[in-house]
Amino acid sequence: MDKNEYKAWKEKLLSTKKNGYDKLDPAELPAMEAYCADYKAFLDASKTERLCAAESIRLAEAAGYRPYTRDMVLREGDKVYVSNRGKAVMLAHIGWKSLAAGAQIAAAHIDSPRLDLKPNPLYEEGEMAYFKTHYYGGIRKYQWVTIPLVLHGVAVLRDGTRVTVNIGADPGDPKLVITDLLPHLAQEQSKKPLGEAIPGETLNLLLGSQPLGGEEESGRVKLAVMKLLYDKYGLTEDDFTSAELEAVPAVNACDIGLDRSLIGAYGHDDRVCAYAALRALLDLRETPERTAVCMLADKEEIGSDGVTGMQSAAFDTFMEDLCAAQDVPLRVCLESSFCLSADVTAAYDPDYSEVFEKRNAAQVNYGVGLCKYTGSRGKSGSSDADAETVGYVRGLFDAEGVIWQITELGKVDVGGGGTVAMYMANRNIATLDAGVPVLSMHSPFETVAKLDCWETYKGMRAVYQARKGIRG
Ligand code: MN
Ligand code: MN
Repeated sequence: MDKNEYKAWKEKLLSTKKNGYDKLDPAELPAMEAYCADYKAFLDASKTERLCAAESIRLAEAAGYRPYTRDMVLREGDKVYVSNRGKAVMLAHIGWKSLAAGAQIAAAHIDSPRLDLKPNPLYEEGEMAYFKTHYYGGIRKYQWVTIPLVLHGVAVLRDGTRVTVNIGADPGDPKLVITDLLPHLAQEQSKKPLGEAIPGETLNLLLGSQPLGGEEESGRVKLAVMKLLYDKYGLTEDDFTSAELEAVPAVNACDIGLDRSLIGAYGHDDRVCAYAALRALLDLRETPERTAVCMLADKEEIGSDGVTGMQSAAFDTFMEDLCAAQDVPLRVCLESSFCLSADVTAAYDPDYSEVFEKRNAAQVNYGVGLCKYTGSRGKSGSSDADAETVGYVRGLFDAEGVIWQITELGKVDVGGGGTVAMYMANRNIATLDAGVPVLSMHSPFETVAKLDCWETYKGMRAVYQARKGIRG
């Protein structure tokens, strides 16, 4: 074989991985930058699932989406949404083909790891007042101390009034913090494994230190804090019982790196995919061939259970309502539907290369990462997409010039994770995972690459606009 022949065979037979910047058309760079600027603003407005649902609805209404009601007659081109209890959102752009031809679905989650207040959170110790917390989702506890935090959520008062609580998010607001030991006295703590050094019961939010009343009284700081909460929200201590208050990082999204090629923020998992799924839907210029559906789910980080999680019948109800409007049985629609389960994956981190298998690890700037399976050990807890489904997405993405990579989350037996994919697949919907590679996933400040955000958006667009369904 001569040199040229060898080269030709090599190009024909062997795969080559390329950095996304070597593939991306430079003419797309301004659009990518504008998209990422909008995404950062979305993140800052969306630090909890409730705020994210509200912001998503605001953007949807601005794009012509209307709240769905059962008396509506739905026609092709109609744009509707349903808010599931203000914590999850389902949107649809009705296609010109019947729902019997299936829907093109993108599903992402809008909840992120955080610290929830316990139902009985308030106490005073050492003449300082604190809130006790119970973490939500998989966190590394040591990352949540000594960073400014804000508190968002709702409380239902004794008389049934629902109040929205926001402590720390408005300009000039004070922040909250969880303190940590000084190194001078941390000799014993420093010897402990990372996972044990900060026990869950020490994740207590510092609320204040200035007492109220005379020095003969006790619990004066606690009362002072409660008085501030009462003056602002009408809250009494018993009202924490019926409240959902979530402590999240105060820091806003910003560019990372001298070249500004990355974005640092709290909650990329999974708002980076949620925004891509939402924005691609809202940006659809023409009525899609098949009905395009965007699912923004809650509760993924704790297993997708619950009335607002992906396992909730709320999604089936939404789809059944859309189908009923066309006299299509739900099962007929679902068996021809396709779902891109849009969730983040772990990006290869050279500082921790030992947990990755480089040939199958997602790399920053290599585009949206397709995951045939997630799960742990022997693919446990994964829906493991079939070759045909992966082939379908590969075809869609290649046809639309989407930069993508095939990935796996870490080395075999090192750990693992899950997404909403299996709950979609269990509904008889062909489903594949795809999403943005993330550095420091689940930390209070995660990092992603702008190029990967942009390619994920293009991937969602390709799914919604597909001229070919999963069944041809
Ligand atoms: Mn996720
Ligand atoms: Mn997660």
